[in-house]
Amino acid sequence: MKKAKASSTKGLPPALQLKNISKSYGHHQVLKDISLNVKIGEVMSIIGPSGSGKTTLIRTINTLETLNSGEIILFGENYVTDRETIKNKVVREGMLRIGMVFQSFNLFPHKTILENIMLAPQYHRISEEDVCHQRALYLLDRVGLLAHADKYPHQMSGGQQQRVAIARTLALSPDIILFDEPTSALDPEMVAEVLGVIQDLAQEGMSLIIVTHEMDFALSVSDRVVMMEHGVIQVDSSPDDIKNNNIQTESYQRLREFMGIA
Ligand code: ADP
Ligand code: MG
Repeated sequence: MKKAKASSTKGLPPALQLKNISKSYGHHQVLKDISLNVKIGEVMSIIGPSGSGKTTLIRTINTLETLNSGEIILFGENYVTDRETIKNKVVREGMLRIGMVFQSFNLFPHKTILENIMLAPQYHRISEEDVCHQRALYLLDRVGLLAHADKYPHQMSGGQQQRVAIARTLALSPDIILFDEPTSALDPEMVAEVLGVIQDLAQEGMSLIIVTHEMDFALSVSDRVVMMEHGVIQVDSSPDDIKNNNIQTESYQRLREFMGIA
């Protein structure tokens, strides 16, 4: 896919480096020594069966979960390690560079759409109120919802609410956005409008990690498709190698079966 930023990121460190990440809940090891790099402007889809550790993986990246071992490096700088017990300044600053969009949109029900988008920038004192306001309007326009600025979440469809949730994430100007099954809670007719917004971000050169069950979307929008199973990365591939059946290993066969293209 053509990327706006592709040429200007040469020689820069990856947006994100996961090094030997492990995570257990009690005796259950959910992430097993995972290592993964995401380049600046790269779009990575993560697929895999339920319970394979996809959500846990992206929650560790966003420091919603602690690590048992391993480290995470953000734009070449140390970000999170297993030794991190309190959220220090480095972690807090890193968190602001990483946006997250959940399956359930998590909008504040008693705030308007516009207020939902302005809340975090105001809390973090990113800019003056009128600048936050202007930017929120701009972002709403970008996701095609400017006319709905003064509505409340319950007055919007699921697809619209998820587009608001994306605008809200953009309001903090993240350098990376993590999506955890952003369309799984939507009625089928609303999936395309949300995928369209994500595709726009991909084309603009944003670094994205997208956990998804939308296989056609994953193959068309991604630079890489990663399949997780039982807490490990089974396959890390270009979409072309999957589509053209270039590689004949057992794991690729499993991935193609899982994607329904075997
Ligand atoms: P996925 O997103 O791929 O469906 P998850 O990362 O949600 O997988 O879960 C991976 C495994 O970790 C599952 O077996 C799940 O039951 C377990 N798990 C997830 N969160 C917790 C938690 N907070 N406490 C205990 N077990 C958990
Ligand atoms: Mg999940």
